[in-house]
This record gives sequence, structure tokens and C-alpha cells, in this order.
Amino acid sequence: MGIHFTSPLLHFSSIPILIVAMDFYFDNAATTPIGAKALEEYVETCRTYQANPSSIHREGLRAHAYLEENRSRIADILGLGKENIVFTSGATEAISIVMESLLWQKTPGRIITTRIEHEAVLSHLPLLKEKGWDIVQIKAKGGFVDPEDLANALDRETRLVAVMSVNNVTGAIQDIGRLVSIVREYEKTLKRKIFFFSDSVQALGKTGLDLKAWDVDGASFSAHKIAGPRGIGMLYLKNRSQIRPLAPAGGQESGLRGGTENLAAIASFRAALEETYADRARKEEKVAGLNRMVRSSLSADDRFSILSPEKASPYILSISTPLPSEVFTRMLIDRGFCVSSGSACSNNARKKASGVLEAMGFPPKTGMNSIRISFSDASNAEETELLIKTMKEIANG
Ligand code: PLP
Repeated sequence: MGIHFTSPLLHFSSIPILIVAMDFYFDNAATTPIGAKALEEYVETCRTYQANPSSIHREGLRAHAYLEENRSRIADILGLGKENIVFTSGATEAISIVMESLLWQKTPGRIITTRIEHEAVLSHLPLLKEKGWDIVQIKAKGGFVDPEDLANALDRETRLVAVMSVNNVTGAIQDIGRLVSIVREYEKTLKRKIFFFSDSVQALGKTGLDLKAWDVDGASFSAHKIAGPRGIGMLYLKNRSQIRPLAPAGGQESGLRGGTENLAAIASFRAALEETYADRARKEEKVAGLNRMVRSSLSADDRFSILSPEKASPYILSISTPLPSEVFTRMLIDRGFCVSSGSACSNNARKKASGVLEAMGFPPKTGMNSIRISFSDASNAEETELLIKTMKEIANG
């Protein structure tokens, strides 16, 4: 993706920033390197707003006003009300707020989720199960939740449905609008609401996100997947009646997320979002072109197979290789490429990726040999060609 900085020293608003040379970067679904405008906004906000947004002196009020301005600007970009946005430290925290809120309910009920969710959702299930919640994980044959499976799983005890919008291993895009409509229809017989949550980290600023049309009750987002800073994200809440904070102290974020707000990161998130939405269609078309290059070249080579379905985000591509994924990934790393052997830069990423691929219906070995390539709009054709060529060379042995 062209992160080959020739100059070791860049200047942002007179602040020298040391940039280290990076390998060819195809791991944007794990994290996307911070963009220039987001970085500049981060530095500028640190410099300009030094008070706590909760303080009542003039500097505090100024910081508070800037916090709210950023919230409004993010809400406008996404077509939401500013009151629907809760800033968090990232998507993991946003998801945890929703999942752990269930523990406050007087009696446990049913949770319907999928076998392809991110660990940030799945990791809550054992405790909820222990507390008496009935957990149904619907499969995703070919990468997609069958609406009929969701309809069959709904019962009178269902309180939460959690289905991610874009899968982080394969890029598969779920038809969230259709799935929500099934739940809304069922609610009519139930005469009570079911909370529909969609982890939308890999959809933000990309194909697969349509919050206004979906009518979900909650969704999670993360800045660092769209060239924003790490450690900031947000929870969209249309319906907050059943939601409890993980950290109530301080009462920030209208009582849903206590703790001093990370104003620089929030402003930088907003800048990254503006950058992402500027000329979005052209950027996505470019990425789709790179994705097609890899798909057509490697699907013509019988040592590889494309695991991502056709209806997938062009930003994410899962491929089965002739070697175990750790070996193949290591060989690519040694040749200067960053790809992922699994769903993220975590210790057992490969196991998680193969879990998703098995849930899609692939045999275990296919998952164990898979790698994930993920693009950003900074990726380019030359580096993509080089990646394809290198993958073929590795396969030649
Ligand atoms: N959900 C999905 C689909 C993701 O891809 C990620 C990041 O890997 C997360 C949640 C967690 O996001 P964060 O790093 O902001 O906690």
C-alpha cells in the first residue's frame, strides 16, 4: 500500500514526526496506518484543547464544545442523531457494553448470534451461558446467515440478536436489513422489543454499511480500521433503554461510558471518517480492482483457492494456500509483506480464522492453510502484482 516513506522525517504543523519504513502492507483489516489528516488533527487537538471537557472553567467548556462539535460532525456523516453516539476506547469496549448489559436483566433469556462473529462478541458467551442465558449460534453456510435460520431461532425468550455486518476474515456482507426485518416482524407477535446489534467495524466507510436503512438498535465501530488512531471507537445506540455502562464513574457519554474523554482521538477519528467518505466510490472502485486482480490471478492457479464469497467487501480477501498458514505468512513476511494468517494480530488468530471458515462449510485443512489479504485505498496495483508474483514463487517451493 505504498507505505515506503522515503523521508525519515515528516513535518506536521511544525512538529517533526519520525516515520519508519514499512513493508508492503496488506493487513488493513487488522489495522490501517493512520492517515496524515487524522494524525495532524490528533496533534493539533492535543495542542489546542488541553483541559478536561468536564471542567467548568473556560478551557474545559472550550474542550467540551469541541467534543460535541466532533460528535455532531460524525453523526452528520453517518446520518445519525448525535445523541445516538457513545465514544468508547474501541469496538471491543462498545460490544462489551452491549453484551454485559444483559447480565443486568432480571431473568436470562435467549441470545441469537452467529458462528462467524469476532472474538469481541464470542468471548462474552461463556459467562452469559454460565449465568443461564440460552445461546444459539446460527451457522453461516457459504459465509452468510440464512434468514430462515434466524426466523427459526427466534423464540419468546429472545432478548438479543447479534449479527456482524461485514466479516473480518472473509469480508462476507450480511443482509442486515433483511435480518432486522425478520426480527421486527417477530416482535409484533411478541409485543416487546428484541435488541438487534450489528458489529460493523469492517463496514465503516465501506460497502456493507447502511445504518439508516437497517433499523438496528446498536452497532460498533473502530477508528483504526479507517486510518484513524487506535484506542477510539464508538457505540451507536438507537435504543439505550436496556444498556448499562461498564464504567459508570464520572457520568461521561450521557452516563454510558465514564472516564475522561480522549478528545484528541475523537477529533482524529472524525478527521479519518471525513477522509474516508471523501471520494468514497472512487476509492472503493480502486480497491475492488486490486481485489479482482488477486482473485483472477490466483483462482486460475490450482494451488490456491479464493475463500471469500463473491458478495464480500473488496477490502478483505481470504485465500487458501498450499502450505500451513503460519508457514506461508512467515515466508511472505520474510519477503517484506504484511498479511494476516488469521483474523487479526492476535496470538491464536489462525484458530479463529479457521473457525469462521469451518462455519462457512470449508474443511478444517482449508482454514488451517488460509491467509487474509486486506487492502486500503492506499494500496496500489504495482504492490499487488508483486504480492501475487511472490505468492506464486512461494508456492513453487
Ligand atoms: N469487530 C471486528 C469485526 C473487528 O474486525 C475488530 C478488530 O479486529 C473488532 C471488532 C475489535 O475492534 P477494536 O480493535 O476497536 O477493539
